[in-house]
Amino acid sequence: MNSFSVKNKASKRTIIFYGTPAYGHINPTLPIVDTLVSRGYSVIYYATQDFRSMIEMQGAQYREYDFSNTNWNPEVGSQIVELTELILEFTNEQLEYLLEEAKEEKPCLIIHDTLAFWGRAVANLLEIPAMSVNTIITINGYGTRAFWMYALRFSFSSLLQWKSIPRILQYKRQLKKRCKIGKTDWLSLLMNQEALNLYTYPLEMHPEGIQLKKEHFFLGPAAILRKDAHQEETYTYDNLIYVSLGTIFNRNDSFYHAVMKAFGNTKYHVVISCKNQYEELMREKIPANITLKPYVDQNAILKRAVLFISAGGMNSICEAVANGVPCLLYPQQGEQAINAKILEELGLGKVIKNEDKLLEASETFLKQYRVNSELIQKFSNIRMKELIVEIENYIDVM
Ligand code: UDP
Repeated sequence: MNSFSVKNKASKRTIIFYGTPAYGHINPTLPIVDTLVSRGYSVIYYATQDFRSMIEMQGAQYREYDFSNTNWNPEVGSQIVELTELILEFTNEQLEYLLEEAKEEKPCLIIHDTLAFWGRAVANLLEIPAMSVNTIITINGYGTRAFWMYALRFSFSSLLQWKSIPRILQYKRQLKKRCKIGKTDWLSLLMNQEALNLYTYPLEMHPEGIQLKKEHFFLGPAAILRKDAHQEETYTYDNLIYVSLGTIFNRNDSFYHAVMKAFGNTKYHVVISCKNQYEELMREKIPANITLKPYVDQNAILKRAVLFISAGGMNSICEAVANGVPCLLYPQQGEQAINAKILEELGLGKVIKNEDKLLEASETFLKQYRVNSELIQKFSNIRMKELIVEIENYIDVM
């Protein structure tokens, strides 16, 4: 594979976006795409079928990743070593094909999710300016607070994935033989950074947010601006509690039963979004004041809710804070535990350790909770205009 620079022949108006196919990674990028399209850019967005309609709704061109030989499954996100293997395997498989397509399009900018190493590789090999999008808390150096927060929560489970290590080394060797792909240490592969790095949450949510310099742009929780094609019924209940474990790690029998037991036949109306377990739970006897849904228009529900019981996905909690809704947090994996801890430190949520006494925990928390208007304001501020200026200056300078 030869390095091929498209820098001087770049199309003034085409941007290629290499996404990570999961709601939490794609939702906050949709308003960015929408804004770029309305500025006259032609955006090509790589993802998978589930996301096709929402990408096309923004006026972007959808392109399908070919995962036919790679076992892509968003749940691998909680298994750091297996995730590294999968990223390298996919890059090995698809890099040539993605490079060919990018050469044809001659983009002026590549945007890639922080996990999408193949996006960094394409940008690097074709010498195209690139921006990384961080929808999760990313680590900006070994030994930083974010590093230790991840290390604490992921080291043990990583040891159990040792079988991936020989394959990781093999994929790295193969790739390095074929082309110059830049840094391939663990952090660089999982958290691909560029000269411009965008965060789709407020800087208060990042352990080093304040210290990060100009090349780190905190946009705010852009997911609250997305257009959702899903038609939600209007809930008019006064005591609406919204419950969701997110779109990936949402199988948890005992949790859903604990919610029903705690809130069934109380003054609260509880809407539970439970994607993967919806059909199973619908076969059971559900209390009249509890509504189960496979998926909801979360922003619409959060406008009415008094409490959000959440696993702590970054988008979800930021959407709740922006809507002024306190969060009771029940993390289902390590990254959610980090988000939950930070939100609790900010006084915007309370982490619970088990499912017992959910009603009491909710009512106690609601009594103690103090509205922090200044923080809510910060979480509602999406710096989209500033981002566009930043991107356009970046393209011009590079
Ligand atoms: N979401 C939604 N409806 C649902 C469940 C989730 O719109 O019923 C959205 C939610 O608003 C958020 C995204 O899906 O934008 C989930 O991302 P998050 O980072 O919160 O968690 P994940 O699902 O990745 O664990």
